[in-house]
Amino acid sequence: MMHKIIIIGSGPAGLTAGVYAARAGREPLIFAGELWGGQLMLTTEVENFPGFDDGVLGPELMAKMRKQAQRFGALIEDKNVVRVDFSKRPFRVYTHDKEYEGLSVIIATGASAKWLGLESELRLRGRGVSSCATCDGFFFRNKEVAVVGGGDTAMEEALFLTKFANHVKVIHRRDKLRASKILQQRAFSNPKISFLWNSYVEEVLGSDKVEGVRIRNILKNQSEVIKVDGLFVAIGHKPNTEIFKDFIELDEKGYIVLKPHSKYSTLTSVEGVFAAGDVVDYKYRQAITAAGSGCMAAMDADRYLEELEANFT
Ligand code: NAP
Repeated sequence: MMHKIIIIGSGPAGLTAGVYAARAGREPLIFAGELWGGQLMLTTEVENFPGFDDGVLGPELMAKMRKQAQRFGALIEDKNVVRVDFSKRPFRVYTHDKEYEGLSVIIATGASAKWLGLESELRLRGRGVSSCATCDGFFFRNKEVAVVGGGDTAMEEALFLTKFANHVKVIHRRDKLRASKILQQRAFSNPKISFLWNSYVEEVLGSDKVEGVRIRNILKNQSEVIKVDGLFVAIGHKPNTEIFKDFIELDEKGYIVLKPHSKYSTLTSVEGVFAAGDVVDYKYRQAITAAGSGCMAAMDADRYLEELEANFT
């Protein structure tokens, strides 16, 4: 069966694209992934998504978007796309067990948490090393934990962890935070949070669970061991573009490059393939901006299909 629009990804960008494409009568097929919903599934309260004056839980917001897309006829497959072939039309999209064809594709695969790249971090992942306080914070009730990073994510993780942990140490490689002022203020005024500036993690200590971390102060060029039961890595994200790299132009960080000066703002280097959300955006990376660009990608794909149809009649 030939699909008019295939959407890969089910965060705010993918599902908003689904709502718009479905309402345009294009019956989009959304590959939501085995872990559907994107990064908001890993957050608690979302306070800045317009329309929710009391805030909304991330997973609840995504469940609402999913239902909304389905209400207008979007088909959702909770499968991972493992390979694509964009070398010719129709475009081909592969899951583990099947091949699908689409006249147009919207890539909305988002971004994933980055890791420090230490052997000890990998070994102790899931044993005290985590990138998701919302998922794992509960296990650190009355314990000591550390968070690495100085951005919004790190501050949110640190603040969230104070609900459970006795104390949270933020380890940051510089002497200034990158996080927004409001989150900085909240973190600085929280008595359970302290900061280890100009420091990076050299090693996570412990054999089968985290017992501490060895950090190095860059200014003093000295190492010290701090005793913690958990380490939360919150140093940013990398775009999920591995499967597209042979077909779509990416920048040096792996983000999808949109075609400048095109009549379609969300067009990639392949005519008929569009992209939206964190997979193209390393600057704003908000649920609302992702949703907005998902809407644009669906409108672009719809107009692109109209042009194709006009050429066939
Ligand atoms: P980010 O802004 O890129 O910050 C990453 C932090 O990790 C930086 O402080 C960086 O240090 C540090 N870092 C990076 N690589 C490192 C390494 N290898 N070792 C040690 N430290 C490292 O990432 P983010 O905090 O995930 O935020 C991403 C975007 O989402 C931002 O635009 C942010 O505003 C947004 N966001 C918003 C909210 C909200 O509004 N509620 C919540 C979460 C995220 P340097 O500062 O030295 O570069």
